[in-house]
Amino acid sequence: MPAARIVSRAVVVRSHATLIEGLMSKDKGRVLVTGGAGFIGSHVCAAFRDAGWSVVALDDLSTGKIENVPDGVKLIEDDIRSASTADLIHGGDFEVVSHQAAQVDVRLSVARPDHDAALNVMGLLNLLEASRAAEVRRFVFASSGGVVYGEPETVPVPETAPKRPLSPYGVSKLMGEHYLHCYRVIHGLEGVSLRYANVYGPRQDPHGEAGVVAIFSRRLLEGQRLTVFGDGEQTRDYVYVGDVARANLAAADVPLRDPESIDDGAFNVGTGVETSVNSLAHILMQAAGAASPVERAPARPGELLRNCLDSSRLRALDWEPAGSLTDGLSHTFEWIAQESGRCP
Ligand code: NAD
Repeated sequence: MPAARIVSRAVVVRSHATLIEGLMSKDKGRVLVTGGAGFIGSHVCAAFRDAGWSVVALDDLSTGKIENVPDGVKLIEDDIRSASTADLIHGGDFEVVSHQAAQVDVRLSVARPDHDAALNVMGLLNLLEASRAAEVRRFVFASSGGVVYGEPETVPVPETAPKRPLSPYGVSKLMGEHYLHCYRVIHGLEGVSLRYANVYGPRQDPHGEAGVVAIFSRRLLEGQRLTVFGDGEQTRDYVYVGDVARANLAAADVPLRDPESIDDGAFNVGTGVETSVNSLAHILMQAAGAASPVERAPARPGELLRNCLDSSRLRALDWEPAGSLTDGLSHTFEWIAQESGRCP
């Protein structure tokens, strides 16, 4: 049984130096990554594996793909809501659960809020109940800095900003954070919520929060027009998936503050750089070495005007984005080109 499985409600406060020392000397344990066959989850699996952890991916393959699961990672095909998933956690000796599986489509959540809640709320609860019973040391939750704040008053947005989600998906993510907080206070289960910005990179599909990168890339490869909604000056914070995976690894051991509010266990994961849709289209055209005409369409109702995250809390723990947006988008474009068999 891994030594770190003892759950304590005591506040864990360690210096940064002690944290790094602890990471280097630690016997790596077992981690369960839900959604491990998905876009972000597969990169999270690889990051834990490369750091010496024993990794199990759980995925129902509803949108994930077997070929996404990295070598050396065991895939269990199951639903996060099932009794057998709870049994897996009970008997799995997992030190950490990294919960990436979700219904991720904002528009689908508006059309089917019941479906969204069934996966994103009831699925989470099944995992939390099993994790506290199995004395999992830490539970890391993929939240979203792109939706929990709503239209922000200040940019870049700090973790403490008001939370005003404007979609059922945003509500379910925020509710997830409240459940984590509650489980820490009541049961001593250490919970960390990572509020991702708009994540892009290899293996992404067009349905996630940074789907525009995949959509524009494919249209550039096909020589088709790029559709920009509104004036194209709406901004987002695009963060590379490898950086998000490293944030998950850090979250397994990050020191936690006294749990007075959900923000004490929450970390923004973004670059702090605002990029407009117009700029994004321009950078991708450069990566493609080809221009496509841009057509304008009416602004979409409910679309946020600005979003950009202040990740100083995570940066203080030695995390920071490894490369530039231009490099990350070039790499992503090349990957999409190869996948679609349309190398430019
Ligand atoms: P994704 O769809 O690629 O990954 C989700 C994975 O979960 C898929 O492999 C899917 O098959 C699996 N899954 C769905 N329902 C399941 C169920 N009931 N049981 C087991 N597995 C199930 O999406 P992603 O973009 O990689 O998102 C991963 C996480 O990050 C999600 O929680 C999402 O809300 C969050 N997030 C993503 C972004 C982004 O920009 N992509 C931004 C903020 C937060």
